[in-house]
Amino acid sequence: MTAPANTADTPSSSLADRPPLLYGNVCAAVQACYQSTRWHRQHLVRALWRSCQTIVAIVLLIAVAMLVYFRAAIPEQYDYSALRFNWTVAPQASLMPMDPTFGAYNVRLDGHTHTTMSDGKLSPEQLVERAVAHGYNALVVSDHNTVDGALQARAYAASRYGNRIVVIPGQEYRQATALEACCRVHMNFLNLEQTIDVGPPNPTDEDLKRVIGRVHQLGGLVVANHLPWSNRTAPFFQEATLPNHPTREQLVEFGVDGFEVVNQDLLDLPTIQYLRQRRETTPGARPIFAITGSDLHQPDSAYAWTILNVSALTADAIVDELRAARTTFLFDPAGTRPGAYPTYSRSWQLLAPLDGLASYIMNMIDRPQGMYSFQGTFCQQSKSRVHIWMAFTLLASLFLVWLVCEASHAALSFVWIRYRKSWRHWGLDRHTNASVPV
Ligand SMILES: [Zn+2]
Ligand SMILES: [Zn+2]
Repeated sequence: MTAPANTADTPSSSLADRPPLLYGNVCAAVQACYQSTRWHRQHLVRALWRSCQTIVAIVLLIAVAMLVYFRAAIPEQYDYSALRFNWTVAPQASLMPMDPTFGAYNVRLDGHTHTTMSDGKLSPEQLVERAVAHGYNALVVSDHNTVDGALQARAYAASRYGNRIVVIPGQEYRQATALEACCRVHMNFLNLEQTIDVGPPNPTDEDLKRVIGRVHQLGGLVVANHLPWSNRTAPFFQEATLPNHPTREQLVEFGVDGFEVVNQDLLDLPTIQYLRQRRETTPGARPIFAITGSDLHQPDSAYAWTILNVSALTADAIVDELRAARTTFLFDPAGTRPGAYPTYSRSWQLLAPLDGLASYIMNMIDRPQGMYSFQGTFCQQSKSRVHIWMAFTLLASLFLVWLVCEASHAALSFVWIRYRKSWRHWGLDRHTNASVPV
């Protein structure tokens, strides 16, 4: 059956030729309905085609985002390279030593920092400048498993600041590959000229003693780092961040020379009390020193300064004072003003939408994994949780966008069809009661 001509384009018949009113109205309604159905069918096919194109585009976009995400091609969000630290604070002017009987001091040491040679954000040169700005005149650079950043920082400090600041090369020790091995203890090795081999994958007590002995052989000191952090419950787990961490007594028995008693802004009071009690109850025992460290990874406030009194501002003199455990520290939990803040990197801004999309997709499956070992593994057994509502919200959002687009398209089509016709035809159409379907 051929479709009737569009009544919108057909002049109406004369009044005499018209069928009875009821019959005419039914015919017009059926005709309009048929026209309308055909028009809607065509519109639906076009809408489906547009929808398919949209779905393909979205799938492609998600695929590209995930590809970029998994290939770690999304750049750093912040750009630290332009940061400068051109001021100086004097913590000694306002802070009292932790041990008020300590007396005079001339060294203000940061005992734990990182550079871009491991997972720090500041270059070795920036790290030295940042230390000077925050009132330090001595600095331990302790990248994870390498002394390269420290040696570079030392060379820069010597050329830029002469003898105004001393850099002591160091290395933060972690084990190699096995899950438990990376997660037992973090130790800083101070006063090293070479990187220490990270040792066997499973560090038994004997392995730890062996590596500590190796550092001593090379003239270095060993510090047990951030005990509160190591023993805190790992987020989403019911065990310590570093499971099977040795006790203080064990660490002393293994040969550790000192304990980090302030890490960033966290004061380790139990370890301070342990050292004090040990000094008082066993006066002839091997000295164990207390040291503080900002554990700096990105620009932050300074909270603590290890203080010592040396005859000459040299690494050897500082190491000697540490070995004799003649240290105390300044501590300010409010911290200094950070002074320098990074901005978004341009390359990250360009890829930020892909980063956001990939992050949203990845967050649908939440996998708390505990502490990262820095060796590609994690200290805790991961457990996955699927957030189904996030998937629902994404689909609902896409559907809403599709609906808005289609409604807008239909509205624009309606306006286009109505206004492209002459007012005369529009009037006739109304007279014959056969409106143009839209
Ligand atoms: Zn650490
Ligand atoms: Zn560290």
